Amino acid sequence: MARPIFAHIDTDALKHNLGVIRNHAGTARIMAVIKANGYGHGMAKVARALWTTDGFAVASIDEAIQLRELGWLKPILLLEGVFGADEIAACVNHRIAITVHHFDQIRMLQASKPAQSLALFLKLNSGMNRLGFEPQDFLRALAQLQAMQTCTDITLMSHFATADDAYGIADQLQVIQTCFDELPYPVSLANSAALFRYPASRGDWVRPGIALYGASPFADTAASALDLRPAMTLHSRIIAVQTLKPGDALGYGRTWIADRPSRIGVVACGYADGYPRHAPTGTPILVNGQLTRTLGRVSMDMMFADLTGLPDADAGSAVILWGKGLPVESVASAAGTISYELLCARAQRVPDHE
Ligand SMILES: *Cc1c(COP(=O)(O)O)cnc(C)c1O
Repeated sequence: MARPIFAHIDTDALKHNLGVIRNHAGTARIMAVIKANGYGHGMAKVARALWTTDGFAVASIDEAIQLRELGWLKPILLLEGVFGADEIAACVNHRIAITVHHFDQIRMLQASKPAQSLALFLKLNSGMNRLGFEPQDFLRALAQLQAMQTCTDITLMSHFATADDAYGIADQLQVIQTCFDELPYPVSLANSAALFRYPASRGDWVRPGIALYGASPFADTAASALDLRPAMTLHSRIIAVQTLKPGDALGYGRTWIADRPSRIGVVACGYADGYPRHAPTGTPILVNGQLTRTLGRVSMDMMFADLTGLPDADAGSAVILWGKGLPVESVASAAGTISYELLCARAQRVPDHE
């Protein structure tokens, strides 16, 4: 018997979510974002499930090449661009589109003189202040690309900081519209939140990530309300049961003390599996399909679930940490983080299982 923790990756849910996104994307093409090992779901598995998408976006050249080795022939976008001149040749060879966000990268392109056409996504910093050219530098950067014969396949790109919250995207959209005005190139702006909430941001290529995996990009809207289905369910089991008297303490640091007779399940899942250590007592967890709460500190390989109201639960009972029946967003919000971080943190030692 193996340790009972595993992740079930629901490829039908991935396909379903892509369909939902397509309905929201209108005529825009979809660059499915599968960086960070497909947000922890497994890049190859996600790519195969989403094979009908129009493109994939990744963070590293290794991920991009792996996609080509899987047989993917359609566009791939390298979201942070190249990290050195050596990667440009690989991008030419494997036909990988490069984000260009810095003059150093343009100098690398000029020096490498790519012999074949190279697709470039020229990125504007419209207010997030992470990557991209300042508005006053943008046209100069564009002119430098246009001057290179093999760099004329250009898409204009930017990224929103607050498409998921009440601040919205009006400020950034204004900067983008002013800067991209009348330029004869396709445009790529929207992440998951923008493509659901702001039709005006859709442009020619949308870049959904989190929604593909069935989590809501919005704190105030459940994934189910967007018709999204969770793609990852993290399963384990109760491996021991403890009976505590009032006054007995539980786990490291004695952070939880029973105030009445209590039954506690020890769950085979801990922070080394990717479960957040900072999830406090009271974080939701499913045992035998019933909602209960975590207790005490999460340790490396184990954690505790309150079985006091669940007389049928016992050693061997099935546990769901997040996924089907328990949105990862609700666990993330109890732990003071976001679904993205929990999904990406799924540890390598947690295998996939049907
Ligand atoms: C990660 C990423 C996305 C996807 O964002 P989601 O919020 O997961 O939809 C889109 N664009 C860029 C530039 C990104 O880095």
